[in-house]
Amino acid sequence: MAAYTADRDVEVCDDVPELSDSDDEQWQSMEEGSEHMSIPCVLCDRTLTSVSETFQHCKADHGVDLPELVQKHRLDDYGYIKMINYIRTTRCSAESLLMVSGPLPWNSDEFMKPALPDDPLLQLDLEEFSEAEAVTLSPSAGDNTAVLLQRARQAEDRAQRAEEALARAMEDLHKLKLLAQGLVLNADTSRGPSSSGAIAELREDEDEAYFSSYGHYSIHEEMLKDKVRTESYRDFMYHNMDVFKDKVVLDVGCGTGILSMFAAKAGARKVIAVDQSDVIYQAMDIVRSNKLEDTITLIKGRIEEIDLPVEKVDIIISEWMGYFLLFESMLDSVLFARDRYLAEGGLVYPDRCSISLAAVGDTQKHNERIAFWDDVYGFKMTCMKKAVVPEAVVEVLKPETVISEPAVIKTIDCGTVSVSDLDFTVDFTLKIRVNTFCTAIVGYFDIFFDESCGNKVMFSTAPDCTKTHWKQTVFLLQSPISVQTGEDLLGQITVHKNRKDPRALLITLTLAGQKQTYSLQ
Ligand code: SAH
Repeated sequence: MAAYTADRDVEVCDDVPELSDSDDEQWQSMEEGSEHMSIPCVLCDRTLTSVSETFQHCKADHGVDLPELVQKHRLDDYGYIKMINYIRTTRCSAESLLMVSGPLPWNSDEFMKPALPDDPLLQLDLEEFSEAEAVTLSPSAGDNTAVLLQRARQAEDRAQRAEEALARAMEDLHKLKLLAQGLVLNADTSRGPSSSGAIAELREDEDEAYFSSYGHYSIHEEMLKDKVRTESYRDFMYHNMDVFKDKVVLDVGCGTGILSMFAAKAGARKVIAVDQSDVIYQAMDIVRSNKLEDTITLIKGRIEEIDLPVEKVDIIISEWMGYFLLFESMLDSVLFARDRYLAEGGLVYPDRCSISLAAVGDTQKHNERIAFWDDVYGFKMTCMKKAVVPEAVVEVLKPETVISEPAVIKTIDCGTVSVSDLDFTVDFTLKIRVNTFCTAIVGYFDIFFDESCGNKVMFSTAPDCTKTHWKQTVFLLQSPISVQTGEDLLGQITVHKNRKDPRALLITLTLAGQKQTYSLQ
């Protein structure tokens, strides 16, 4: 999983954007162009030349009054779009359409995808359309100027209402941002029972920023281009086809669908790919483009909230790892899926992971980051150190700055671990290799595809391995510690979720009497 940053800067602009001239022109040309449209009817092979003509034809020749259906089912813009795509995709009959009652057959988000590219019926503003229709039918319809004036006034009103609503939304967003910053800064660092399973309890709207960050292509490009990561998953599946043959596989957080396609190629009978982010719409196209739609079923939703079309699955695959392994807490979602859907004897991959620490001696970097604040253009800014030290740094560390043997501080068996095991405290010992100053502690993780695999695969995010998009996580010490070759540097680490923001992680390190809590946000 890639670098989701909860505190990405959201630019809150105070100015309400106004329609530019070019927006106006575009609108005008769409209106003008609408006289020469070519619209395939939703119910037969005829082609019509305008939206109104299409609606009239449907009503006259098929007995289906589309605007009336919109009213009958109280459809909003999205409901209308889904209905049109549903009719085009399923080629349902006029009769069945008129019979629809109860749950709407076009409710699923899959019908947001246009069945017809650039379908003019989908470019219709429902509200505008019904008002325009009303004007056309009004007694003054013969008077073109009056009609246009009335439409202009209505458009102006709507624009003003929209601008006011946007201004209010901007203000709310700004308040929310301040509130969120306050929550994170004042976060209670004590451990609380509510931290266990907190991700499962998050609501979709509370997790919106997280999932919208995965809606953008760039985060997926970064993950796919991370060859260490992606090729490890590929090699594990392609080199252990016997594990996948004829199996039902669940891909938790499928993104672009890459792992699902590896699994399908590795012989899975059925792959169910789930993602809450909008990237799943692209995954639907990708799966079809690769002719894998018969094997891979894509479902948009949080794994915690949807119902899968099968009772149980044989294998769960997921790429859930965050910085320092546990940042983002997506493992919670995989464990939820495991407990709910994994068949007896089923397998979760990767099946094992470990987190390691090592001591770092890099006085130059420590000076650049910490001592820097003692003299800034002749002024003391020492208090700034208090802001700098507590933020763990994600960066690629020069391997030669590592000055101790690594120590594994946590091993996770994905088949048996529980959410509460992911908050933990352990003592560790770092065997020092040089006489120097320890200026920081580095953290990284290793991932293993072992269980039932004839060809085991692993990868490491350690400083001396090929770099990955996870880089390493560095915890700077406020004051460097003098260390000797052969010395055992003793420490303790506590890793736990921030109670106020369960996707953020708080890490407390105690080393040679120094205790510091770091956040990873
Ligand atoms: N499997 C893809 C993407 C991994 S990134 C790949 O390897 O390239 C993790 C993905 O999991 C994101 O797209 C995110 O939206 C999704 N995700 C995270 N938590 C989820 C949850 N609880 N339910 C559904 N999708 C989730």
